[in-house]
Amino acid sequence: MSFPAQLLSEKIKGEVRFNEPMSKHTSWHIGGMADIFVMPKDIADLREALSYAKRSELPVSIIGNGTNLLVSDFGIRGMVIKIGPGLCQIEVRGERIRAGAGVPLPRLAAVALRSSLSGFEFLAGIPGTVGGALVMNAGANGCAVGERVRQVTAVDLEGKEVQLNNQELEFSYRYSCLAGRKLVVAEVEFEGIPGVPEAIKAKMDSYLERRRKTQPLEFPNAGSVFKNPPGNSAGKLIEQSGCKGMREGNIQVSMCHANFFVNLGGGTAEQVLTLVEKVQQCVFEKFGCKLLMEVQKLGEF
Ligand SMILES: Cc1cc2nc3c(=O)[nH]c(=O)nc-3n(C[C@H](O)[C@H](O)[C@H](O)COP(=O)(O)OP(=O)(O)OC[C@H]3O[C@@H](n4cnc5c(N)ncnc54)[C@H](O)[C@@H]3O)c2cc1C
Repeated sequence: MSFPAQLLSEKIKGEVRFNEPMSKHTSWHIGGMADIFVMPKDIADLREALSYAKRSELPVSIIGNGTNLLVSDFGIRGMVIKIGPGLCQIEVRGERIRAGAGVPLPRLAAVALRSSLSGFEFLAGIPGTVGGALVMNAGANGCAVGERVRQVTAVDLEGKEVQLNNQELEFSYRYSCLAGRKLVVAEVEFEGIPGVPEAIKAKMDSYLERRRKTQPLEFPNAGSVFKNPPGNSAGKLIEQSGCKGMREGNIQVSMCHANFFVNLGGGTAEQVLTLVEKVQQCVFEKFGCKLLMEVQKLGEF
C-alpha cells in the first residue's frame, strides 16, 4: 500500500508512524498493525489529520487510551488517530473544568479534588481518557460521566469544529451519540459540585480500594467485556453459568471478576471473540439472556 507519507509527516506537528503495532496502544496488549498512526499535538493538528484522511480517502479510526478496545489481529487499515498527550490541557474556573479529550480520567478526578469539586470521584479508577469516557458514557458506583458534561467541542471527519450541549449528546447507559455521528471529541466542559476535600478524598479512596479487591488488575484486560443487562449484573450471570476460569488459548475469564477477560500472555483477538461467543452461549442456555459486548471492536474482523 502506498501513501504520500512524506506529505503527511510535513503537515502534522505531532507524531506520524507507519505500521504501528496496536498491541502497544491497548490495555489488553492485543492488536495487529495500523497502516498509519497519528498522535496530534493540538486541535489544529487533529483537524489537519482528519482533512488529510478525507482528501486521501483513508478510513479513520479514533482511539484514546485503548482501555475499552478489541483490535483485530489483522490490524487496522487506513489512519488511526490517538487522542492523547497532545490534547491534555486542563483548566478550572469556579465550578467548571475544561479538559482536553486526551486527559486521563484519574487526572481529571485529581484536579477536581484539588479544586474541592465533587462528582468526579468514580473516575479515579477508570484508566481511559476524557474522549473515550464521553463516547462510552463511562460510569461506576451509580454515576456516569455524562451527568457532569455541559459542553463538548468535537471535530467532524471533514475537520470542521462542532459544539454540542449535554442534551444533544443523548447520553444513556454506556452510550452517547458521538460514535454514531462520527465526531471526534476534542475538548469537554464539565460542571462539578462544590464539596469538602476530605470527603471527596475518602470517597475516591474507598472506590479505589474496592477495585483493587475485586478486579484482576495484575493482568492485561479491558474492564467489563459485556454490558450489564437491565436490572442485572453480567458478571453474576457469567459466574452463575459456571464460566469463571473458562479459557481459550491465553485468554481467560477472570477468576476474580467474571466480566473481565484477562490476557495471560500472547492472547489474540480471535481467542477473545471465541471466548465471548462461548460465554454468551452458556449464559443464554442458563438464563435465556443474550449478553451484549461493551468492549468496542476495531479493525478487520
Ligand atoms: C481495569 C479497567 C477498569 C475499567 N473500569 C471501567 C468502569 O468502571 N466503568 C466504565 O465505564 N469503563 C471502565 N473501563 C473501560 C474503559 O476504561 C472506559 O470505557 C473508558 O472510558 C475508555 O476510554 P479510552 O480512552 O481508553 O477509550 P478507547 O478504549 O481508546 O476507545 C473507546 C471508544 O471511544 C472512541 N474514542 C476514544 N477517544 C475518542 C475521542 N476523543 N473522540 C471520539 N471517539 C473516541 C473509540 O473509537 C472507541 O469506540 C475499564 C477498563 C479497564 C482496563
